Formats: sequence, C-alpha cells, structure tokens
Amino acid sequence: MKRLVYLVAALLVLGACQEKKEKDIAGHVIVIGLDGWGTWCMDKAEVPFIREMMKEGSGTLDKRTVRPSISGPNWAAQMNGTPVEVSGITGNEDHPTFKPLVLTEHNAQPTFFHLMRLERPEAETGVVCEWDDFRNYVDLQCVSYEKAIDDPTGHPDAIVEESARYIKEKKPAICFIHIDALDHMGHSYGQGSAEYMAELPKVDDRVRRIVESAREAGIYDDSIFIITSDHGHEGTGHGGDSTNEIETPLVVWGKGIKKNHEITEPVIQYDVAATVAKVFHIKTPNSWRGVPIEVFE
Ligand SMILES: [Zn+2]
Repeated sequence: MKRLVYLVAALLVLGACQEKKEKDIAGHVIVIGLDGWGTWCMDKAEVPFIREMMKEGSGTLDKRTVRPSISGPNWAAQMNGTPVEVSGITGNEDHPTFKPLVLTEHNAQPTFFHLMRLERPEAETGVVCEWDDFRNYVDLQCVSYEKAIDDPTGHPDAIVEESARYIKEKKPAICFIHIDALDHMGHSYGQGSAEYMAELPKVDDRVRRIVESAREAGIYDDSIFIITSDHGHEGTGHGGDSTNEIETPLVVWGKGIKKNHEITEPVIQYDVAATVAKVFHIKTPNSWRGVPIEVFE
C-alpha cells in the first residue's frame, strides 16, 4: 500500500514537472528567405503582401548582415545562431573557411534543425531551396525533408509548388524556404535596376502563395511566418560593408506575435535562429550568440 502511495505521488510530481515545460508559442514556423532582398529597395518596392504582413505583425528594415555580406555566412547564421567567428563560414564554399568552434556529431553546423532533432526526434522539419549550396549550411541528417529546385530561373513557380505541396502534405514544425530570384536580378542587372524592381511583385506573390498553402493545410492559425534576407547589393555585387549591402528587411507575424510592431532593438542575422528556437522553447547552446527578437506578445 505504502509503495502504491509513493508511486502515485511520484507520477503526480512527474506530471507537474512535465506540465511546467512551457507550451510552444506556435506549432509551426515557416521561414521564407529572399536571397538578395535589400532594404534599399523598400521605398519603391511593389510588395503589397509583404507590406500587409508588416502591419499584421512585427518588422524592421535595419536587420544587419554578418560579415562578409554574402549568402553562405548569412544563411548559416540565421540557422546556427552564431557569428562567423564561431561558424568559420565566410564564403559560399561547402566547408568553413577556418576551423569552426562547434560542430554537430555529423560534422555540421549546429542549427535549430539539429537542436529540434535532439529535443523532438519525431518532429517534421524541412528545407526547400532554389540555391543548391544553401544545403551546405543545414545538417541534412537532422531534417526530415530537403529539396533543391532544378533550374529555378527556368521554373520560377517550382519553389511555390514544391513548398506548398510539402507544407500541405507534412505540416512541418520548422520549414525553411529559400527563394533566389532577387539575387539573380541583382547580379544580372544591378542594385536599383528596373529588372530587379520588376521582380519584386513576382516574388511577393510567390511568398503570398506559399503562406496561402499553410492556410490550405489548416495550420495558418497555429503558425509563425518569418520573411528574411541574407544581404543586399551594391552595383551587381555584394560582400562589402555599404549600407545597400548590409541592411536587410525582416517580417515576423502569426500566432503570439506582436501586431503592427516596429522592431527597434538591433537585430543581426543570428538573432533569427534564436527567435525560431524560442517558439519551441528549445534551449540553445552557449556557443550561440543570437537572442530572440522581441516580437512575442
Ligand atoms: Zn545571397
């Protein structure tokens, strides 16, 4: 009898402890990364859906890149929560330029995908990208699904169709979607070009349709959406420290996110990773330098 009482008491305590674990802020985080989306274009940019979501949620036009302002280190930082000094990623190569301070058991960057896999092995996570090398910055053994779109320039809608299919079919806990079109325009025609500006409403519409698929999947109300970028352009290039290259927009909206809120604290790429981790109350390692952006209600 005494043993039974102890057992019941232990179960109650266990239950109470488990109850204490904070409830996820939302069940799904969908990150849409627009490669080469610079703040410089936002005065004139025709992006009605993105502007609407900036009102619907929280946003800043002053998110700062890590250095150098190129894709590899800036996508890596938004997933691994660390600056270049920790990740060793300074280029678009498939390996760090110098010895990283931390790597996973798979010899990869410790991204939020890795942390999620450790904490919730059953969680569905995925990456869909238009830039094949984007996957160099993801521990592929820690995502349930990854797909690089073939010939994205020839099939601009493929990224929408593939992302929508994946979201509707799998309802991922975390999904990172990478769209390359603006960077392509920036390199081909340059910062401020008519071609770049003409691509913006098309990209805006692709974002809208991807978000729409979350509604069709029935997860919209239990999701947080993040629209982010890796760098801007100067002329037809990037990698330098000019304002046009290092200032990028960020929009966050959805469940538990402040509405019509301008983010005023300094935001650097690696804070995006910490913000994603916070949604699931994932404990981040001390190698991370990112802090959750103050967008939560
Ligand atoms: Zn880029």
